[in-house]
Amino acid sequence: MLNVDLHCHSNISDGTLTPTALAARAKKNGVDVWAMTDHDEVSGIAEARIAAAALDMNYVPGVEISITWAGQTVHIVGLQIDEKNQALVDGLTATRGGREERAREMAAQLEAVGIHDAFQGALKFVGNPDLISRTHFARYIMELGMCKDLNEVFSKYLGDDKPGFVPHRWATLQNSVEWITGAGGIAVIAHPGRYKFSDLAFDALFNEFKEFGGAGIEVTTGSHSVDQYDYYAKVAKTYGFLASRGSDFHGPGESRVDLGGLPPLPSGLKPVWHDWDI
Ligand code: AMP
Ligand code: MN
Ligand code: MN
Ligand code: MN
Repeated sequence: MLNVDLHCHSNISDGTLTPTALAARAKKNGVDVWAMTDHDEVSGIAEARIAAAALDMNYVPGVEISITWAGQTVHIVGLQIDEKNQALVDGLTATRGGREERAREMAAQLEAVGIHDAFQGALKFVGNPDLISRTHFARYIMELGMCKDLNEVFSKYLGDDKPGFVPHRWATLQNSVEWITGAGGIAVIAHPGRYKFSDLAFDALFNEFKEFGGAGIEVTTGSHSVDQYDYYAKVAKTYGFLASRGSDFHGPGESRVDLGGLPPLPSGLKPVWHDWDI
């Protein structure tokens, strides 16, 4: 069976490895079909494509777009996108826009709870100045020795409504799906098990996503528990979604699941790659 991993991050967003190092790790771990999906950024794709080709690994251009839906942040993955598509590029540029200001506000709020110089501290971990993320702050707080892992940093400081959290308005669901499909890509709801919606809200999210042209949902992801693989397999069948699989790897020692390390999709699903030339 093909080892397909369609979700991970390089240091072009909040991963720790370069696109080239990520490609090498995917290959070493036995990945046959690989997508790198940096947050709100496509500028790493050219390097990833070259690295994958040199390793004779099937490469899928991807992105993970941050959106705000019903007051929460949701992530929409785009696969098989044309990363040069102008509407996509412009949309992502706009989406990235407020990150530096947000980061400065986060640093001020963290200062108030005794975490000093967090803006400069987070910057040390940033590979791309256009993309300062909560993950970079989390790495700085880890470096200070204040928490045992990233999860604890988010539950104490950076998660929604915690002291360092600054609400942000990302793209809309409709925009994200239209940027992706307009660039010839397939839109996929990332790690649905992470969102805190009621059943009613989830139903509305899935229906709206479909109406706008969304096609897939992540079933097997590093962000889901084993129970959630089965639960979202049922959701995929109920809504007629294609099923995706992706580790959401961010870096060695940080991510629970390594590149290529997930179990296969549950049976009876139509994989998002079902009609790809692979
Ligand atoms: P941002 O886009 O700046 O809001 O940062 C969101 C990123 O934070 C996600 O892409 C994850 O990589 C990371 N993240 C969110 N929650 C957690 C968590 N509980 N543990 C570790 N990383 C997290
Ligand atoms: Mn991330
Ligand atoms: Mn995500
Ligand atoms: Mn991700």
